[in-house]
Amino acid sequence: MMFQPDAESMPAEQRAKLQEERLRGLIDRLLAAAGVQAGRLRAAGVERGGDVRLADLPRLPVTEKQDLWAAYPFGMLGVPRSEVVVFHGSSGTGGRPTLVGYTRHDLQLWSQVCARALAGAGAGPGSIIHNAYGYGLFTGGLGFHQGAVELGAAVVPVSGGMTPRQITLIRDLGPGILACTPSYAIRLGEALAEAGLRPGAGLSLRAGLFGAEPWTAALRARIEELLGLRALDIYGLSEVIGPGVAAECFEAADGLHVNEDHFLVETVDPVTAAPVPEGSAGELVFSTLTREAGALLRYRTGDISALRREPCACGRTLVKMSKITGRRDDMLVIRGVNIYPSEVERVLLGEGALSPDYLLVVDERGDGRELLALCEYRAGSGPAQDVLEARLREVLGVRIGVRVLPAGAVPRTEVGKAVRVVRWAGGEPPVPGLA
Ligand SMILES: [Zn+2]
Repeated sequence: MMFQPDAESMPAEQRAKLQEERLRGLIDRLLAAAGVQAGRLRAAGVERGGDVRLADLPRLPVTEKQDLWAAYPFGMLGVPRSEVVVFHGSSGTGGRPTLVGYTRHDLQLWSQVCARALAGAGAGPGSIIHNAYGYGLFTGGLGFHQGAVELGAAVVPVSGGMTPRQITLIRDLGPGILACTPSYAIRLGEALAEAGLRPGAGLSLRAGLFGAEPWTAALRARIEELLGLRALDIYGLSEVIGPGVAAECFEAADGLHVNEDHFLVETVDPVTAAPVPEGSAGELVFSTLTREAGALLRYRTGDISALRREPCACGRTLVKMSKITGRRDDMLVIRGVNIYPSEVERVLLGEGALSPDYLLVVDERGDGRELLALCEYRAGSGPAQDVLEARLREVLGVRIGVRVLPAGAVPRTEVGKAVRVVRWAGGEPPVPGLA
């Protein structure tokens, strides 16, 4: 089911024309707003939108999160402050959030793209949507809320926390759709099971839209088992609009359709910013083609994903992005190849015999950087080191050394976020006995 079938299943050529027209409009609005983006456009030789073609995109200037922080609170608005009707934000730096403004038009656009995501999960007029995203400055709760109202569904604005009350509402109201973070979906699923509500025994949920955190295929399987629903990924960030930038469809559930008629998407090399071919992992970059207050040209997200164009069972012609596989800031460059620790983890943990405790050592003692993966067998034995090395090389395209250590030898993090990557520039090895 599609909320806006004309836009979502538009032939690619027609959409490209629309994108080019809208890109020109965005550039004209930015030039008129005379902010930092206008200055950069003029420095790049762009004096009017009409001169720009879609193919020129890679040579246009980019924006980054630092630009929003530097211009806090109102400096990046594409319209006069008085036209803003809502502010949202996300975690920032130095006590200041990353603040984003919305005009009435921006809010309507946001409602529509969230309605698209909900319809893609099978919701429609009459559906009940249990919305356990936090309501507030964060965009999750209100984004879904407005999308549900736009769709004509009934939204239960339960927000996050107070799990016993959530269980009562799910039991009594029988929602078909759940919206929350993937980690809260697990928590809720376990609490529902404890309360005797299981798939096929009192649970009515058919689909869930889970986002705001990166999550894996393994977590998808666990959520689906616990809640008996189709677990779909949804992507968004407040700088671009909030949830609704991209979402998976119920039919395929294997990649997120980007609403590219409004959010023009590119993938670039995180280091050089050069375009990467479709199908290869790169940093997601969005231009908000139709935003007024939040008008951004080529916003670098820092999120790593791959784009893919293919016919989908749902009928949408919108490009698909893979699940987020890493963050630009986590990237390691090993012999010219970009490696994300999450990719190494996926290969290692795909070997059922290995313990989830592992450590990546970036060996910087020699001329080049070498990567060494330290791991342990879960019980007794597992594949030999050279088998693991061959597997990593096959998947990642670069040599990564593997060392299997005795049980307990990989250092554990007792408090806070686990440390998975350490640098070894010289002196004592990070783990005793490592030569
Ligand atoms: Zn689809």
